[in-house]
Amino acid sequence: MRDHVKLFIPGPIEVSQDTFQAMTQPMIGHRSGDFAKLYERMMPKLQSLFGTERPVFLSTSSAWGVMEASVRNLVKKKVLNCCCGAFSDKWFDVSQRNGLAADQLQVEWGQPILPDALRAKLATGEYDVVTLVHNETSTGVMNPLAELAAVVQEFDDVLLIVDTVSSFSTVRTEMDKLGIDVLLTGTQKALALPPGLALFAVSQRAMDRAATVENRGYYFDFFEFEKNAEKFMTPSTPCISLLYGLEHQLNKIFDEGVEERFARHAKLNAMVHAWAEKHEIEHFAPEGYRSMALTTFANTEDLDLDAWNKRLKDEHKLMINMGYGKIKGKTFRISNMGDETEETIAELIEALDATYPGAK
Ligand SMILES: *Cc1c(COP(=O)(O)O)cnc(C)c1O
Repeated sequence: MRDHVKLFIPGPIEVSQDTFQAMTQPMIGHRSGDFAKLYERMMPKLQSLFGTERPVFLSTSSAWGVMEASVRNLVKKKVLNCCCGAFSDKWFDVSQRNGLAADQLQVEWGQPILPDALRAKLATGEYDVVTLVHNETSTGVMNPLAELAAVVQEFDDVLLIVDTVSSFSTVRTEMDKLGIDVLLTGTQKALALPPGLALFAVSQRAMDRAATVENRGYYFDFFEFEKNAEKFMTPSTPCISLLYGLEHQLNKIFDEGVEERFARHAKLNAMVHAWAEKHEIEHFAPEGYRSMALTTFANTEDLDLDAWNKRLKDEHKLMINMGYGKIKGKTFRISNMGDETEETIAELIEALDATYPGAK
């Protein structure tokens, strides 16, 4: 049995021993040539995963730092926050706390954002920025990113900011091809690293907008990142240990093969779905709009989820998640992100079968 409780919650997730090992390398100065070389080695791999020719920036913060930074750097008129769950709803709150004019395109939790609704909002001409969470980690919904990005393209001077925190590296992201202006992700979800690092890229037209925005601050000023990235540096001292971990994970991703990685996640996701079907457990997200990185199930039988998770923890040394935000207790979530394999998901399913409190 493991010496620790393994997390199958949708973030933070289990970090492999080899990743921790990679993070124990000696410190280097963040203004040294060695640091620049480390960043330079990672850059093409990051650009390939982002689907961009733009530089990918390293932010020593969790994803929220960059989510806040994006609206702060880019909104001049009004931001439209597409809201469909805990993370996307919160972005509206964050916009307002930054003193920005903001509106919601709100759908019921569990439902996706759909192109026609977005088009109708943008047709008012009120907005210059749209925020979208690709994979709404609370509800398990994967929004139709390509279709939504195409809608934003129909409107001049509307910038699109996309959070791919829990979808990044589980499905392809094509920033340049889709015309995405800011693409951002964090490390503690699908990249299977400890928390504390966010990655993002900004389109040229978004940089042009930012140049005209006042009070961008310092720590998250897009121009500080751009200026430093030209020399493969960061504005302030970054989380160097995490960057060692990131290089290690990037090498693993490209050794496995990116397509192979997507296929692995699809396979593992299907294994979890097959388990649920066996027990006649319902999905929270509608078919066609389900995440490949995790699954949110509806607790229609009103099971005692906390008691279930306690058994999983005590008897099997693993944990799943029993709902987030206002759907806590009404849903439960299982992650298949990161370094999981058919073997480890089979082990999870065995534990779920052994403890499942439902009738089936
Ligand atoms: C986890 C998550 C976040 C927040 O990430 P932090 O690292 O806690 O800042 C934002 N968006 C989505 C979709 C997430 O899953």
